[in-house]
Amino acid sequence: MADEVIEEVKSEETKEAGAGNKVGAGLRFIKSKSVCRKCRRVGMKLFLKGDRCVSPKCAFTRRSYAPGQHGQKRSRISDYGRHLLEKQKLAFIYGLSGSQMRILISKATQFRENTEEKIVQLLETRLDSVVYALGWGRSRQEARKLIVSGHILINDRRVDKPGFLLKAKDVISLSARAQGLKLYKENILLLAKDKQIPAYLKKKNEIEASLARLPEFSEINLFNISLPLVIEFYSR
Ligand code: SF4
Repeated sequence: MADEVIEEVKSEETKEAGAGNKVGAGLRFIKSKSVCRKCRRVGMKLFLKGDRCVSPKCAFTRRSYAPGQHGQKRSRISDYGRHLLEKQKLAFIYGLSGSQMRILISKATQFRENTEEKIVQLLETRLDSVVYALGWGRSRQEARKLIVSGHILINDRRVDKPGFLLKAKDVISLSARAQGLKLYKENILLLAKDKQIPAYLKKKNEIEASLARLPEFSEINLFNISLPLVIEFYSR
């Protein structure tokens, strides 16, 4: 399985890097066909497709084994494969490429104490994570589309980089143009109204919120991903 994981991961990273080059550095659109394969490959639900993930249509619910001809075979996973798997789970959830993950982990490990909390903060204060946490997108992918289309303002200035890192007290709002979108009327207003937002975010109204403080490690659900294994993977 480890070899299959490595092969699949390499091919998906290459595909994604190619897709990213078309739209600019740091931005990658994941091909929707490959999205569910990621959950099946790492053996857990990653919740990448919004409502579909909690419906019976979820591909992992229907086929909870790895994709491909030998997907149902059970095989032993090596130590390297285990580390790689944990790193991939995290990268897939946040839609990050291998090099973006490497930069993030190296930034976080500069802080000798609370490295795990720093990783969580670097991931959760990304603009796409905040837009998703506010319920303005049903998935991180949808949140990213809103951002790159120029619909998100930070402190009244347009920011179109999904990886932009917010600081405490930054105010995030939707542009006036976004409020005319079908997506806004049908999704954002309805979805965001009932969405439970994390305690570190403060909502002023449907189109404005702020990052009240930095998130704490205990507030984030990382689906039991082992961050020490991810850190070890990058320290090799
Ligand atoms: Fe993963 Fe299921 Fe969502 Fe597809 S629908 S991304 S398999 S959780």
